[in-house]
Amino acid sequence: MISYNFYNPTKLVFGENTIEKIGELLSNVGSKKVLMIAGSGSIKKNNVYDITINSLRKNGIEWRECWGVRANPSLAKVREAIAIAKKEKVDAVLAVGGGSVIDTTKIVAAGVYADDIWQVFERKEKIKKALPIFTILTLSATASEMNCSAVISNDEENKKWGTGSPLLYPVASIIQPDVQNTLPWNQTVNGALDAMAHIMEYYFIGTNEETSIAVNEALLKTIIKSVEGLKVDAKDTISRANLAWAITLGLNGISGAGLKGGDWACHDMSHSISCMYPQIAHGGALGVIFPAWMKYVCDSNPQQFKRFAKNVLLTDDIESGIYELKQLLKSWNAATSLRELGVKEEDLRKLAEMTVSRGNIGKLSVLRLADVEKILEFAF
Ligand SMILES: [Zn+2]
Repeated sequence: MISYNFYNPTKLVFGENTIEKIGELLSNVGSKKVLMIAGSGSIKKNNVYDITINSLRKNGIEWRECWGVRANPSLAKVREAIAIAKKEKVDAVLAVGGGSVIDTTKIVAAGVYADDIWQVFERKEKIKKALPIFTILTLSATASEMNCSAVISNDEENKKWGTGSPLLYPVASIIQPDVQNTLPWNQTVNGALDAMAHIMEYYFIGTNEETSIAVNEALLKTIIKSVEGLKVDAKDTISRANLAWAITLGLNGISGAGLKGGDWACHDMSHSISCMYPQIAHGGALGVIFPAWMKYVCDSNPQQFKRFAKNVLLTDDIESGIYELKQLLKSWNAATSLRELGVKEEDLRKLAEMTVSRGNIGKLSVLRLADVEKILEFAF
């Protein structure tokens, strides 16, 4: 038996017309002035911005804004927002957007109190304190709305690294799934692929943790079923809601209970890919890397890979499980090779080197430079 702690203090407010509750949620912690952090402006088109500021106004909360967080969010934007937060003396931070915006906001919350926030990623400084974090989710993918980690890219040093601290759990997060009805198809798919990868990072190192393994199979099947529903009708709110909740549960602690902290080799490889090629979405890279990794490491835990093939993809053996997974991704118009994503063959070695620059990766099977290079070749 594996011992573990489960802790998740984030209050999740889920459902129709929930965004208008943000002012009240901030008031509950006594906030008077908040820094709102957002992406490139899509929240102005789908009304999310107006509903948010009306709610702040109604509750007598002042706000400042920081725009322009990109996908694979940058350290430069984090530093810009920290400067605003300090200058304006805000007492809370509010992310309105997807995982990139939320990750940026978390690191800003901690960065206000850090000597140099990047040193936290370098593991040379610890997060000591953070402003209260609030989020309004507009793209389900990372589950950052209900966990305590964040990933940031340092463009100058060519590093895309993650960090975490219990101080980075949002106080409250709002998920109003219908605001995602207008998302482009590829963003819905990339979000689903990211969540499937989170679940699989835990699932494949499992053996006897029946509760978590069964929950993870249910989550994977729900994600697949919901994406299939949205393929038929992007405004199918029932599928949208089921997908959103399954994605949050994919990385809020529940999917990983008892599963040894997860493997995370596929995430490490994907981070290098979207660090070198910022136009490649995190979920898109994972969709390509996972089947290649499965092929390379499945002999380390064949029973579990067989179980996945049977229970999630309704097929008999490991090989056909990997094949069916790729077919599924193809049917969603997702890429199934690095080449398709625009990765150049001559960069594979460099990508492998970047991936192991903080040490060997993986847990089910510990991967060294040569292993990572092989998996990238499989994925190419
Ligand atoms: Zn991820």
